[in-house]
Amino acid sequence: MSNEFTPQEGSCACQSNTYTINNQPVGRFICHCTICQEFTGQAYNDVTVLLKSDVSDLNLIRTKFRRWKLPPNISRGLCTRCDKPSIEMGLAGNLILVPTTNYPDVAALPEPTMHLFYNRRVEDMDDDLPKYNGFVQSQAMLIKALAKGLYSRVARR
Ligand SMILES: [Zn+2]
Repeated sequence: MSNEFTPQEGSCACQSNTYTINNQPVGRFICHCTICQEFTGQAYNDVTVLLKSDVSDLNLIRTKFRRWKLPPNISRGLCTRCDKPSIEMGLAGNLILVPTTNYPDVAALPEPTMHLFYNRRVEDMDDDLPKYNGFVQSQAMLIKALAKGLYSRVARR
């Protein structure tokens, strides 16, 4: 895989909130939990994970952050104008989650590697990706995938 990632300007649906993504995401997964459904207004959240240092020029004046009960350490930002996802922050802002809908060029992103909270799905997924159920299993597999993503990023330096 190439080390190059052409920076992209991410934004909410109405482009009131913008930021620059400068690095290849550490991970990408599809979450079917009910909170993601409520947050995105869609059947699931196809989302990328980045480190704080990967994202610059944050213009989030029209983002309102809110925390749902689970997972407790994720702060989810909705646009106050279009009411669509703006950006999500985890671990005191050290992890940044950007829904793939907020990228102008989704084709440049890595493929999703798994489905989480698949037991909460509103539609079946016709693919060969692993599908994990429930909080404990989903959380464990997410941490494992992120560790792998971080490792491969360090290893290719
Ligand atoms: Zn918006």
